[in-house]
Amino acid sequence: MTSAVVRGAVGVITSDGANIGVLSGPGGVLLVDGGYARQAEAIRTAIAALASPPAAPSVPPAPPSPPKPAATKPAPATAPATAAPPPPAPKAATPQPAPSPRLLVNTHFHADHTDGNAGFAATGAVIVAHENTHRRLAEGTMLEAFGLVTPPAAATALPPVTFERDLRLRLNGEIIDLLHLPAAHTDGDVIVRFRNADVIHTGDVWFNGMYPFIDTRHGGTLAGAIAGVDRLLLLAGEDTRLIPGHGPAVGSRAELVDYRRMLATVQQRLVALKAQGFTLPQAIEARPLADLEATWGQGMFRGDRWLELIWNGV
Ligand SMILES: [Zn+2]
Repeated sequence: MTSAVVRGAVGVITSDGANIGVLSGPGGVLLVDGGYARQAEAIRTAIAALASPPAAPSVPPAPPSPPKPAATKPAPATAPATAAPPPPAPKAATPQPAPSPRLLVNTHFHADHTDGNAGFAATGAVIVAHENTHRRLAEGTMLEAFGLVTPPAAATALPPVTFERDLRLRLNGEIIDLLHLPAAHTDGDVIVRFRNADVIHTGDVWFNGMYPFIDTRHGGTLAGAIAGVDRLLLLAGEDTRLIPGHGPAVGSRAELVDYRRMLATVQQRLVALKAQGFTLPQAIEARPLADLEATWGQGMFRGDRWLELIWNGV
């Protein structure tokens, strides 16, 4: 597990699960997704590293980089302001005890984003999510694609604050907009926009550099995923830093444009096959994604497996 500053007070914690967004400051910590419960201690340690400078080096919106021990690197050389007052005494390198998050936003219900809910709630975090995320957690779910059965969540793991369309939070001087994207990766997707820092956590509406999982059993669709990316592209400028749900932890608008192009190409081809009456086995046999495989099929799913997953959502 590693952590890095994305920009300003917004950081990211990366692990073998989803990318976790962190806003830290004197008013407290806001988390975007809480990872698996088994990761809780490592996440708290990473939060502490982000919340207590020396600052980890800023991550540019660049291709995947190997994990690095962010907290031990020297701060990047930045040009001092002219006639600046003497610099403050350097802070202790040892991280403070992990601050318990005040707010925890769930971008959607999947366990790699919500399994840690009860643990963070137990130390005071208020969980905020879309209404459909609350419903999925409360009812329990089955993900055939992964053979994963999740029983109804304990009451303490459920978000006490839910919303239907959007919600604005304020913390540490930052304005945080939670925006619902209908029928995208699931039916409860929320993207989290940090307006001042100009950072957006996309949740699983973006799998950076790979075919995405689209949860068609729980309201996700390919068309909605594309519409969700379009919403992100409207909000993001060339300089905006984007934290994807999965894949290299900081991406750019240009990379999201490539991803959108891939999704639209796939949609066009699959809609055409369906219009011609292809069944799923026939569509797989036709290898409609063969030319995309080298670029997009090296992540979570190969193309033929991915086709199986999204076919019903086309
Ligand atoms: Zn997901």
